[in-house]
Amino acid sequence: MPKAAFNDAFLVDPVPAKAGTSRQERMAFLVDVMLEKLGRWLRILGFRAEDPDDTDDDAILFQAKSRNLILLTMDEELAKRTKKLGIRSLFLPAKMTDITDQIAFVVKKSRISIRNWKSRTLCTKCGGPLDVVSSKSVSDQLPPRVLKRFKDVWRCKSCGHVYWMGSHWKKIGETITKVKSKIRSKVRKSRKAVTRKSK
Ligand SMILES: [Zn+2]
Repeated sequence: MPKAAFNDAFLVDPVPAKAGTSRQERMAFLVDVMLEKLGRWLRILGFRAEDPDDTDDDAILFQAKSRNLILLTMDEELAKRTKKLGIRSLFLPAKMTDITDQIAFVVKKSRISIRNWKSRTLCTKCGGPLDVVSSKSVSDQLPPRVLKRFKDVWRCKSCGHVYWMGSHWKKIGETITKVKSKIRSKVRKSRKAVTRKSK
């Protein structure tokens, strides 16, 4: 498969998202309205993360149940209702406003891996798989400076949105590094707590 000519550190290998069978691949989320940004980040990390079709609580619960999605919400009452209905959910406390805290929390609690995330990145808008295409083939969607600079870009197979690895990709990489270090420090802290208990 052709690789796009960008900085290797932020290279996205366009592996199409397949309906896989591993736990990791089956993991899919429904992200409540207050957590839209978290949804975009989960898609960057290669996870299916749907936005609610409707903002009504009953509709959200129906969507999660019928599509077997894990509901991520900051609404405690809604999280309580999922338990009674047998829907998997994760309640994020309202004070958890930092996006890196939110991502680290979801990754840890759902026991998913974000290693090799660059090979799984999905369209942040619709969650569709990305394909490498020549920038010339989508020239009408690109600013002239991007067309000049990049030979290849990524296009979403579902919605057609075009991505290129501009400076924001460096920021994305930095944010994920921060998330990883938060996960590691939380693991260390919980290990310490266990050690203390066992003494
Ligand atoms: Zn898309």
